[in-house]
Amino acid sequence: MTQRIESDYLVTGAGGMGMAFVDEILTQTDATVTIVDRKHRPGGHWNDAYPHVRLHQPSACYGVNSTPLGKERVDEVGLNKGCYELASGSEVVAYFDTVMRDRFLPSGRVTFLPATDYKGDRRAVSRSCGTEYEFAVKKIVDATYLNVTVPSQRPPKFGVEGGAVAVPPNELPRALTPGQHFVIVGSGKTGIDACLFLLTMGVPVERITWIMPNDAWLFDRFTVNLGRKFTDICIATQIGVLNEALAATSVDDYFQRLLAAGHVMAFDPAVKPTRWRCATVTPMELEQIRKIKNVVRMGHVESVAPGVIRLEKGVHRVPESSVFIDCAADGLTKVPAKKVFDGTHITLQSVRMCQQVYSAGFIANVEINVPGEARKNELCRPVPHPYLARDYLRCAIQNSENMLTWLTEPAVVKWINESRIDLFSPYLYFDDPQCAAGIEAMCGLIKQAVPKLQQLLEDDELIAA
Ligand SMILES: Cc1cc2nc3c(=O)[nH]c(=O)nc-3n(C[C@H](O)[C@H](O)[C@H](O)COP(=O)(O)OP(=O)(O)OC[C@H]3O[C@@H](n4cnc5c(N)ncnc54)[C@H](O)[C@@H]3O)c2cc1C
Repeated sequence: MTQRIESDYLVTGAGGMGMAFVDEILTQTDATVTIVDRKHRPGGHWNDAYPHVRLHQPSACYGVNSTPLGKERVDEVGLNKGCYELASGSEVVAYFDTVMRDRFLPSGRVTFLPATDYKGDRRAVSRSCGTEYEFAVKKIVDATYLNVTVPSQRPPKFGVEGGAVAVPPNELPRALTPGQHFVIVGSGKTGIDACLFLLTMGVPVERITWIMPNDAWLFDRFTVNLGRKFTDICIATQIGVLNEALAATSVDDYFQRLLAAGHVMAFDPAVKPTRWRCATVTPMELEQIRKIKNVVRMGHVESVAPGVIRLEKGVHRVPESSVFIDCAADGLTKVPAKKVFDGTHITLQSVRMCQQVYSAGFIANVEINVPGEARKNELCRPVPHPYLARDYLRCAIQNSENMLTWLTEPAVVKWINESRIDLFSPYLYFDDPQCAAGIEAMCGLIKQAVPKLQQLLEDDELIAA
């Protein structure tokens, strides 16, 4: 039998983005919402994350707008010392679960269908009892489009032969045995986290081999440490990044300038990074991972067998009993940008560089307070997740242009000023002459830097062709 459910919004996906969107709807409207997720509880990919995962950005600026995460504490010990605390994966899962149980459901305006597959066309099917649902809703919000994938959600992409052991980083704590050799496959943030975990647990550095298909530029967490106590530093970084663009003569020169100014970091100063995936580390973390000397740069892994790794550029040998840790998931896969507001459909995407959950709350505010689809889309132009190093420039351009547009919309400025999760909150006071002068100076700089960044990109494309 098909069950019919009526509500104003249907939100597919109860990950961070779906939750942040709904939170804003509940705060600012009387609307009703149905949320469907194939998982048994909210939190999305955080439910599948490795046990030592932590947020890459401060808890202070993460999650849904209404409900603080963490205690706005600055870490006094550990490799993140001096930065805002970073919630662990289990804290993030508990947080979204609490938001659902203590806020969404008691509101009486949210129907949550866990363990339910959305099938498209306003239909879903329960994974537990097979009940079919049909939704009579005014709007459908797709909170699944960015398609986050973590290693434990799929088998390794490389071949595993001859009884080799290849596991996701979720298995790392269980694999700790004296004398064990570890091969970390993947150089993204998951690979970095795996290396840091092993080093923190006291695994000798010579027992770690790191397969690094590509080097990536890294952000220094101190300069992008979102949150009230660090806003001045973040703004100074943004200004610095724009000024370096004005001085740069090519994309390579731009990155060298960012490196020299401390805005980005590289794992090995002798190797030019070709990727940029928004990963952040502290200088102390970088110092730790640089201790690993068994770094293999021979392209992607094709297959592993006991003691043998076949890569794009040849064969590398490791101890026979090595365990292979698959950290090669894309995290945020590359999906094309699409219109956020399209008739009755809303597709949640990043509208600020690498800030997915923030963006979902932002889009909800625009949905509620800004009339007209064209204007809504003008305010919500996607900033697709970066992959290549040069994507940093694309992101910086779109991010900057978005900021200029946002400042023209009072409903957006008000939201930013009142928002727990916004970097520029509460700084956008146009009535305050000093504040207004600061905003104007920043806008002037953006207007100069954006054409320069575009020029650098065009020149780089010509060279590449
Ligand atoms: C290791 C790691 C660390 C990160 N750290 C940060 C950070 O510090 N700050 C930050 O801003 N971002 C961070 N991110 C990015 C992170 O992905 C986002 O913060 C956010 O959690 C993404 O949420 P989401 O809702 O887009 O995706 P997901 O968490 O993947 O949620 C999507 C949900 O949709 C459901 N779903 C999909 N298809 C269907 C279907 N057909 N029917 C029903 N349900 C469906 C899934 O089950 C899932 O629950 C990190 C990512 C990773 C991998």
